[in-house]
Amino acid sequence: MRKKFLLLIFSFLICLSANSCKKNSFENETNKEVILASFTVLADIIENIAKDEFVVRSITKPGMEVHGYQPTPSDLIKASKAFVFIDNGFGFELWAEKFVSNLDLKRVTISDRLDPIFINEDFYKGKPNPHAWISPKRGMIYVDIIVESLSEIRPSKAELFRKNGKIYKSKISKLDKDFSIFINNLDKNNRYLVTCEGAFSYLTNDYGMKEAYLWPVNAESLITPKRMARTISLVRDQKVPSVFCESTVSNESQIIVAEETGANFGGDLFVDSLSEADGLANSYLNMLQHNLVLIKKGLS
Ligand SMILES: [Zn+2]
Repeated sequence: MRKKFLLLIFSFLICLSANSCKKNSFENETNKEVILASFTVLADIIENIAKDEFVVRSITKPGMEVHGYQPTPSDLIKASKAFVFIDNGFGFELWAEKFVSNLDLKRVTISDRLDPIFINEDFYKGKPNPHAWISPKRGMIYVDIIVESLSEIRPSKAELFRKNGKIYKSKISKLDKDFSIFINNLDKNNRYLVTCEGAFSYLTNDYGMKEAYLWPVNAESLITPKRMARTISLVRDQKVPSVFCESTVSNESQIIVAEETGANFGGDLFVDSLSEADGLANSYLNMLQHNLVLIKKGLS
């Protein structure tokens, strides 16, 4: 306590001499409570809801594969400063259960309040697909869940969460409306989304599209001859104009599918991780925008 008091006095004297108390990051950091997210996409959504008054950190970094991540000792230090850990659930963070078991903080798991779509393939058959944030329609539900959960934990900030959430949702809603119009104008036979990971079930389900993929979940990104042959014949039979992969895995196999079928390789979509600050998907909104623009271009 005494140490903390001396530190505060010290930082006060420093900022007096620098005449920039407001910008003193030390003071800001010490005053703000920390919210910890499991991955960058979620951290960005939370940041938009809790901004200015809380510090939001992510366990996994931009560009990382999240499913099979192994937390490090520095992640535990990060977590010890937070009052709440927010994760996606539906089996997305295979490491989360063990990670939080020894921590003294609240936990909010988005999937506890979300309707699942189940995977219908191999080893994963009957398990919920974790990638719900990929659909703007579900993204808006994520905002509601986070606003609600944080308001329960910090009722004094409920109004701030509600206000920020409303503004943020209106931005996601614009992307939702724009994409809905595009799909509604697309021939029903031309609505196949062929990707590497089966991560787009929520998007295809919510917008009346059909989904095909090389493997169901990145944690087991096995490309077998059977899966390859199945995808190639579907792309040929359905005359799918473009096939896609995603940023955190190798796109080699999908490029082969494109070459074998004469389809166009439509590019890498962002799914499990945001990009670095200077990248194409440096926020959840930019990630959605990037994906929807690529899909529109590929299927037009
Ligand atoms: Zn994934």
